[in-house]
Amino acid sequence: MPSVIIVGAGPAGATLAYLLAHRGVDVTLLERQLNSSREFRGEVLMPSGVEAIEEMGLMDAMASVPHQIQESITLYLNGSLVFSQEFDAELFQGHPPQAISQPHFLEMVIGQAEKSSHFKLERGASVKELLLDGTRVVGVRARTHEGERHYHADLVVGADGRASAVRKHGGFESRHVSPPLDVVWWKIPCPKDWPGPSVFMGKGHFMLAYENADKQLQIAWLILKGSYSKLKNRTSNEWLKEIADHISPKLGSFLREEEDELEKPFLLDSVSDCVKQWSIPGALLIGDAAHTMSPVGGQGINIALRDTIVATNHLVPALFSEDPAVLDQALKAIEKERMPEVRHIQRLQGMPPKVGFSSAWWSEPLRRLVAKILARPGARSKLAGRVKAMPFGVTKVRLRD
Ligand SMILES: Cc1cc2nc3c(=O)[nH]c(=O)nc-3n(C[C@H](O)[C@H](O)[C@H](O)COP(=O)(O)OP(=O)(O)OC[C@H]3O[C@@H](n4cnc5c(N)ncnc54)[C@H](O)[C@@H]3O)c2cc1C
Repeated sequence: MPSVIIVGAGPAGATLAYLLAHRGVDVTLLERQLNSSREFRGEVLMPSGVEAIEEMGLMDAMASVPHQIQESITLYLNGSLVFSQEFDAELFQGHPPQAISQPHFLEMVIGQAEKSSHFKLERGASVKELLLDGTRVVGVRARTHEGERHYHADLVVGADGRASAVRKHGGFESRHVSPPLDVVWWKIPCPKDWPGPSVFMGKGHFMLAYENADKQLQIAWLILKGSYSKLKNRTSNEWLKEIADHISPKLGSFLREEEDELEKPFLLDSVSDCVKQWSIPGALLIGDAAHTMSPVGGQGINIALRDTIVATNHLVPALFSEDPAVLDQALKAIEKERMPEVRHIQRLQGMPPKVGFSSAWWSEPLRRLVAKILARPGARSKLAGRVKAMPFGVTKVRLRD
């Protein structure tokens, strides 16, 4: 029976393990954490991600995962309303954008994988090294609660996120796609009349706020990398002053009421990069390990799920061929099929921060011009056509039988 080690039980690793195990591949999933709620996890799923979950046959099980459907989008520039638009439900064909509880989602996927006798999960196993036979990867060394262990398989998949050990130890080279950002992250009680996802753009500021699956208001404030060290000792009142000029007066007064909740934001750094090649003999990278996604536009989980479907299509026949040369060709085919979408989405993700953060003389007039254009519904629908890759992806991703 062919065997695979998957490193990391995030969206990419957990769903790949589920799909391969149910197709008769012996899967060992190694996850360094003891449960799915220990790490920060992104939350927003786009229609392309919901569709991927449906392709995997997980829609019924998805009903048990707490979620909050997002029904509109509102944009503010320097605190003034530019537009507010309800989403056209028909356009999403039953796959509306939604904020999900990622820990619940991952536990649901793992529960489904456990129904296969080909699936094994080891929690608390942190991969430290790749094992080689000549130049071919044949396994990993991991630190576990029982001490150090060696695991061997026909293929090692690195789905271990943006600080991937498989990327590091496999000598994969990467290139940065857009400037790194810091994200200041607050969760506060959601106001009763919250209008739906709102974006607040202004000189050097870019903020997104939405109601999450716990019915809380999730606020993500994107700032240029390094700015946080100047801000981290601020009191909640100073935080308020810093952001008040850039958000709507209504949100400003709500935040003033909830001032105590702003005291201790959570800081996340955000990177956008891509490895130059996704595989070496015997090892493949997928998800953030291959192409770390910025939080802009809620894309990373969706792209990771879509990587998984394409990887399954290529890996299953190649693994059953039991020919290492066929397997290595399949690894290259996965990269070739996924790169156009990853490249395009990463380029789109880089644009809003470029416009939002620039302090060049032309940037404020440009922001005002963009706002004027976006205020017109006709121009908005033209622009929506240009960025439709964000909700719908670039390529058709279908799971083969
Ligand atoms: C602030 C912020 C907000 C975001 N919001 C969104 C959003 O709303 N929507 C969206 O689609 N994307 C969002 N993203 C991006 C998204 O979180 C990632 O793109 C996505 O999680 C990638 O999934 P993954 O499975 O590839 O990696 P991860 O989710 O990072 O999972 C990797 C897993 O590997 C494990 N691991 C790591 N190292 C090892 C090791 N050595 N051994 C064993 N296990 C290991 C980790 O514990 C983890 O469970 C956001 C990103 C940031 C930074």
